[in-house]
Amino acid sequence: MPIDFQTLSKKYDTPLYVYDFDRMQGNYQLFKEAFSGEKSLISYAVKANSNLSVIRHFGELGAGADCVSIGEVRRALSAGIERYKIIFSGVGKQDEEIREALTEEILMLNLESEAEMKRVEMVAQALGRPARISIRINPNVDPKTHPYISTGLHENKFGVEIARAKRMYIYAKNAEFLDPIGIHFHIGSQLTDLAPIAEAAQIVADLTRSLKAIGIEIRFFDVGGGVGIRYADETLISPQAYAEAIVKATKGLDVTLMCELGRALVGNTGYLLTSVLYEKQNGGKRFVIVDAAMNDLLRPTLYNADHRITLLDRKDTEISEADIVGPICESGDWLAKAVPLPKTEHNDLIVVHDAGAYGFTMSSNYNTRGRAAEIAVSAGNERMIRQRESFEDQIRLEEAYL
Ligand SMILES: *Cc1c(COP(=O)(O)O)cnc(C)c1O
Repeated sequence: MPIDFQTLSKKYDTPLYVYDFDRMQGNYQLFKEAFSGEKSLISYAVKANSNLSVIRHFGELGAGADCVSIGEVRRALSAGIERYKIIFSGVGKQDEEIREALTEEILMLNLESEAEMKRVEMVAQALGRPARISIRINPNVDPKTHPYISTGLHENKFGVEIARAKRMYIYAKNAEFLDPIGIHFHIGSQLTDLAPIAEAAQIVADLTRSLKAIGIEIRFFDVGGGVGIRYADETLISPQAYAEAIVKATKGLDVTLMCELGRALVGNTGYLLTSVLYEKQNGGKRFVIVDAAMNDLLRPTLYNADHRITLLDRKDTEISEADIVGPICESGDWLAKAVPLPKTEHNDLIVVHDAGAYGFTMSSNYNTRGRAAEIAVSAGNERMIRQRESFEDQIRLEEAYL
């Protein structure tokens, strides 16, 4: 059933995020089925879209949660994700976060440095309970994606190189308060080429074999996330080919295969609805000014991201190129550039497609703009899953100091 954007925009106003929950389920099932016959856990990378209803939806389908802050762990727990399916990654975990994660008995903490391992050991010892850990391997593989979302090269801050990781595993095996049960990598985001993932899986599987040979029993083999989606004309990694490459790399290892998908589960399920305010012309350049801005969707200006745009209900034949820009006082405040569009009028509705991942979660209050409302649609019914932020919400924690 197509989503009725016009009705939703009139009922809830714009800018508005709309998510297709049925499509989320479809995306999840594609990956789950690709791994059928294997011990597998598909986790949802919470940072892609952290709305509690979104997390709960994946939890009900059986997904785990990949979290990168204790706040995300709390979201996962309060959305009903089972604690034995939650993992906690990130290069800068604080003692308090480590303590809480251990107390909540989540599946494991994914470690990113030797120094962090020592902190985790200390906190675990103080609590008197061993910490289940995995180590994030930096396999030094070029994921061939945008440099801001590349994470698997030695020049990136993420993970641990192989020789060091091996020393860490040996240390952990002999430590009373560390229990190394997993191994992990995550080489980047919006990947459209399977080869780097397959290569990283092979490298990390070989390491896992050498660890097993010295008695370190890795039970969870976590290949991270990063599977890309089609924003424009990208070729895609098929879930089948993805699963096959991972199964092949880990052949003979008795492990649960895990992946942590964010964008591939939610990216193509989200729409940002925005209304036209004005058109203007500067010299030869045409601008369509809309009520959504870079504070609502940062990806265009941050990553030069190319989101498909449609203008609803306008069929004029005279079409020219326009930049779609927001009201914020920054030249970087644009949603799309050089889009062929007919002449627009006040209140025309524009849909920005594929805005389900790293859309709302990267939004801010810049220019004292309240963040958009969020709507879930399933089987033709809609539910508001986050209210529009008011001015009062924004200033609630401030004081006008006199
Ligand atoms: C961001 C992140 C993911 C998800 O990345 P996507 O590209 O959205 O699939 C998975 N694992 C870790 C550790 C991450 O930081």
